[in-house]
Amino acid sequence: MNDSANRQETAQSSGSSPIVRLEGVNKHFGRLHVMQDIDLSVAQGEVVVIIGASGSGKSTLIRCVNGLEPFQSGRIEVDGKTLLPNGASGKSLQAVRTEVGMVFQQFNLFPHLSIRDNVTLAPRKVRGMTRRQANAIADRLLERVGISDQADKHPTQLSGGQQQRVALARALAMEPRLMLFDEPTSALDPEMIGEVLDAMRELVNDGMTMMIVTHEMGFAREVADRVVFVHGGQIVEQGPPDQLFDQPRHERTQAFLSRVL
Ligand code: ADP
Ligand code: MG
Repeated sequence: MNDSANRQETAQSSGSSPIVRLEGVNKHFGRLHVMQDIDLSVAQGEVVVIIGASGSGKSTLIRCVNGLEPFQSGRIEVDGKTLLPNGASGKSLQAVRTEVGMVFQQFNLFPHLSIRDNVTLAPRKVRGMTRRQANAIADRLLERVGISDQADKHPTQLSGGQQQRVALARALAMEPRLMLFDEPTSALDPEMIGEVLDAMRELVNDGMTMMIVTHEMGFAREVADRVVFVHGGQIVEQGPPDQLFDQPRHERTQAFLSRVL
């Protein structure tokens, strides 16, 4: 990237130095070039929504940011730690995973643990908190996502919407600097989508830095500072939601939006 592009990018991400920066990231699954020279920065407090058709590489991109996927070239900086290609990240990998919270489409709760223990496990094991300290945090977070009365139950006793809110509380218990969401409402019955979006909305209002993959275009328009459209492993177009949704420049963006809006 040349200097002027660099400055433009920085300005785009509202002035402060980015908390996430992908530079020239390439990733292949065998012969499939699933991330093609991806450059993307996210400023602190920014909410970036990633949209695109199924198979376009959205999950792969977001999974690379917290080191769940190796990549073959380029670099990814997360809060000053650098992830390098081909598994050369060393200690940064654990640091990044500790600082980044992730909520998946499938809630991925630990089925054998109570709701409270799902939330306290990482703070106790990774942060070395006492059970009492971690329980206090868990109870506060479970109250915040509206399920404090479910703390002693197990995941299968909760609805999908409740489980996803537990997953959110569990991620927040590690006090992440960045939250990643990969289609957090796609596995939910329609009547439960709203309660999860409400919990995410609160997080936006708190100023959390977020990267969100979603098909909820109304929500994207409402919360995003920037919408990024991905197609075939490339960032085709990005901009503020009103611009991207109302005046998409690229014909691929137009075609995608005409199918989903
Ligand atoms: P999206 O989240 O946008 O639907 P993904 O990032 O999941 O897209 O996948 C992008 C492409 O990479 C798809 O063609 C998918 O089949 C392929 N892919 C994803 N994960 C793997 C994997 N572990 N091995 C091989 N191919 C994969
Ligand atoms: Mg996906």
